[in-house]
Amino acid sequence: MLSFWEKQSFLAYDYIIIGSGIVGLSCAASLIEKNKNAAILVLERGIFPTGASTKNAGFACFGSFTEILADLKQMSEDQVLALVNERYQGLWGLRKRLGDRNIDFLQYGGYELISDHEMPALAQLDYVNHLLFPLFKSKVFELQNNKISTFGFNSSMVKSLIFNTFEGQIDSGKMMKSLLRYVQERGVTVLNQCEVTNIEETQTKAKVWVKDELGQTKIAFVAPKIIVCTNAFTQKLFPHEQIAPGRGQVLITEPINDLKIKGTFHLDEGFYYFRNFQNRLLFGGGRNLDFEGETTTQIGTTSLIMNNLENKLTNILLPNQPFQIAHRWAGIMAFGRDKMPILKFHSPHILLAVRMGGMGVAIGTNIGEKVSQMIVNQ
Ligand SMILES: Cc1cc2nc3c(=O)[nH]c(=O)nc-3n(C[C@H](O)[C@H](O)[C@H](O)COP(=O)(O)OP(=O)(O)OC[C@H]3O[C@@H](n4cnc5c(N)ncnc54)[C@H](O)[C@@H]3O)c2cc1C
Repeated sequence: MLSFWEKQSFLAYDYIIIGSGIVGLSCAASLIEKNKNAAILVLERGIFPTGASTKNAGFACFGSFTEILADLKQMSEDQVLALVNERYQGLWGLRKRLGDRNIDFLQYGGYELISDHEMPALAQLDYVNHLLFPLFKSKVFELQNNKISTFGFNSSMVKSLIFNTFEGQIDSGKMMKSLLRYVQERGVTVLNQCEVTNIEETQTKAKVWVKDELGQTKIAFVAPKIIVCTNAFTQKLFPHEQIAPGRGQVLITEPINDLKIKGTFHLDEGFYYFRNFQNRLLFGGGRNLDFEGETTTQIGTTSLIMNNLENKLTNILLPNQPFQIAHRWAGIMAFGRDKMPILKFHSPHILLAVRMGGMGVAIGTNIGEKVSQMIVNQ
């Protein structure tokens, strides 16, 4: 049962954002930057964000060489260029807002490991560099095969190595904590353990229903604008949206003496990715081993994928170095028929900003900015 005071001061806002991942918090940041007096509430079902933003690999990337080639088969050159630009600009936006030190941004560069069957793609290296030149004003991808042995990879399986100097890495935990601090310092209210169960609209506003902490009564928060940033979990509230969840499983090793691998790395057409985190190796991917099983919102790891990751560590990435696994986890992404996020007004009071695919770190900031502009211009 709510008190008079609670009803007076806690329930009504200008904007309610559902979901406190990078997209929800970036929306809050952009809205409060535009109007410092706006009353903004972020509702999060978990104790902390519980989707992808605190569970990802922390690549500050905009597409590997073979990924861009694959995109060029589906999209026009202009569309691919626009997509790369959006990701790259998004990363700049994130760095500018939070500061490199607060997110541990390190530009060690990115690499793509090329196996035998991918070798013919290298003939397109000049073409892709030429295409990206207007954005980066220099060559983006270059061969650095000498580093195959420097990094200690199994050279019978890694035939070529493509380097991209513009790619970097962040500490996703620090980034999300900084973003949370950024919005809270500016007066945004973030409430955790508040799962929104349904949304109801009237002529002038929408009501967002949340179970109270004892799960006995339901509380309705009210605002003229609701922004839904629930990514892979959106279908629970909007069952007709075309969103397929995709689980990503990850492991990290204990510190490795003399770890040679430094940077972010893409393997097997982007289905696998690894990076150093200080002197540990973080390795994830393998959804392609069980697409059906990994199309789930259940956060958990499977032995099929974890064993595969460990085998690849032993045989390809760290063939001559002993290692121990320190931790394993999983997070949930959201995919659609194409790579474009869903960014639209569902109704005059409800805006959806969901389906970020595997690049939310790169695009989250821009999505927040676009949302704030859509609301201001409505
Ligand atoms: C393993 C893994 C590795 C990845 N690696 C990278 C990478 O290296 N680089 C990169 O750019 N991207 C990467 N991604 C993708 C990136 O993390 C996502 O695209 C991005 O975090 C999506 O952000 P979001 O805010 O849209 O969603 P989320 O972070 O999933 O946030 C949605 C939030 O909504 C909350 N929520 C859901 N339903 C409700 C409800 N009913 N009520 C209240 N709250 C609710 C959830 O708890 C969650 O916190 C990776 C993802 C995974 C899983």
